[in-house]
Amino acid sequence: MRYGIIADVHANLAAFEAVLADMGKVDSLWCLGDLVGYGPDPNECIDLLQSYNHRCVMGNHDLAAIGRLDTADFNAAAAEAAEWTAHALTDRSVFYLSHLPEMVVVEPFTLVHGSPRSPVWEYVFQETLAAANFDHFGTPACLVGHTHVPALYVLDASRGTASGRVPGPEDSVDIGADRVIINPGGVGQPRDGDTRAAYAVYDSESRVFQWRRVAYAIESTQGRMRAAGLPERLIERLDFGW
Ligand code: ZN
Repeated sequence: MRYGIIADVHANLAAFEAVLADMGKVDSLWCLGDLVGYGPDPNECIDLLQSYNHRCVMGNHDLAAIGRLDTADFNAAAAEAAEWTAHALTDRSVFYLSHLPEMVVVEPFTLVHGSPRSPVWEYVFQETLAAANFDHFGTPACLVGHTHVPALYVLDASRGTASGRVPGPEDSVDIGADRVIINPGGVGQPRDGDTRAAYAVYDSESRVFQWRRVAYAIESTQGRMRAAGLPERLIERLDFGW
């Protein structure tokens, strides 16, 4: 079976469509949360994901969009976008988001948005944080999003430490040899300095997990964001990939 792994779509339909076209045929999509928030097309992204056989977990921006999270912890632009999203969502979209689980297990993976220890909140962005999270999931691998930066953390079980690296496009890892925490990078708002949408594919036969990048029509998303009156800072950052 072939799986497509996406995270942090953030209502960026142009990026999501480019990823799906580049990905090719998959048996199922795994979405690591933050399907909405920041971008101009939340309902369209939810509908598109639902047209696929898929699994999806809850992200902090999904929670904010359905009013189950106080945006006091968000920066001003993110809070403004969360409010815009809450108003834009259809009842059907709210129903879909409000039923997302915080964690999904699909062997040999555990799927969460932030971290297995704190599924909606924690950012796994350094080796010590990754190491502390291996006791919080039972599968060989855990897939996370939230940071919008591709990452691979490998556990050294004898020492209880983890070694991390930032995988490039086309980089890959064999699943099953080591215990790993993996971030595919972000679809709708990459933050590693590369403006292209990031995603990954997993082939359960070869057990190869591969990171991928694809360019999309950034100006199309930016035009829709301007028309929606979303914060300029969020529009501009797409040009820089941060
Ligand atoms: Zn996010």
